[in-house]
Amino acid sequence: MKIDVERKIQSENDRLAQKNRRVFSDAGVFVVNIISSPGSGKTTLLEATLDRLAGKLPITVIEGDVSTERDMDRVRARGASGVQINTGGGCHLSAAMVGEVLGGLDLKSAEIVFIENVGNLICPSTYDLGEDVRMVLLSTTEGDDKPMKYPAIFHEASLAVINKMDLLPHLIYDLEKVEREIEVLNANCEILRLSAVTGDGMDGWIDWIMRKMAEKKRALHREAS
Ligand code: MG
Ligand code: ZN
Repeated sequence: MKIDVERKIQSENDRLAQKNRRVFSDAGVFVVNIISSPGSGKTTLLEATLDRLAGKLPITVIEGDVSTERDMDRVRARGASGVQINTGGGCHLSAAMVGEVLGGLDLKSAEIVFIENVGNLICPSTYDLGEDVRMVLLSTTEGDDKPMKYPAIFHEASLAVINKMDLLPHLIYDLEKVEREIEVLNANCEILRLSAVTGDGMDGWIDWIMRKMAEKKRALHREAS
C-alpha cells in the first residue's frame, strides 16, 4: 500500500513539474535546481554568482527552506528578485510548492531562475520541479564518502560542483575518489571544483551556466520554428 501511495504522489508531482516547465519555457527562462546537504554553500555560491551576473542578466531566485527568509534576504541584497518558500518542516521542495509561487514572479523579465532546494541529499532527488538542469553541490567539509551513500541525487544531475576547495589543505578528503564515484553513478554528469568564497573556479561555473542557457534558447527556437 505504501508503494501505491508513493507512486501516486510521484505521478502527481511529475504532472505539476511538466506544467511548471511549460510556464518557464513560455517565459524563455533557464532554470537550475540546486541540491545539496545543509551548509555546503548553496546560498554563498548564489551570492558569488549574483556578484558576477546580476548586473548583466536579470536573475530570479526561488529559495526553499524549512523556515526563515534568511537566504532570500541574502540573495536580494546581491541583486536578485524572487521569493522564499517556507516548507514548514518539509524536507524538500515539490512541483506544487514551486507552481504556487510562479504567478507572483515576473518571469518574462528574468533570464535565469535558480531554485535553491531545501538542504537535503535524499528526497529532493525524486521531486522534479520543472527545472532544465539539476546541479548537485558538494563541499570538501562534508567528507569524501557522499556520492555512493546518496547515489540517487547524482542520477539526474547535469553537473556536480565541489565547493570549499580552499579548505582542502586542512582536510582528509580524497577528491579523485569523489569524482570517480560521481562518474560511476552518472557518466554524463559534468564536475567542477571551486571556492565560492575565494572565487577560484567560479569562471567554470559561470561558463557552464552561459553554455546551458544558450542550449535552452536554441532548443526553444527550434521548438518555435
Ligand atoms: Mg541556503
Ligand atoms: Zn523530503
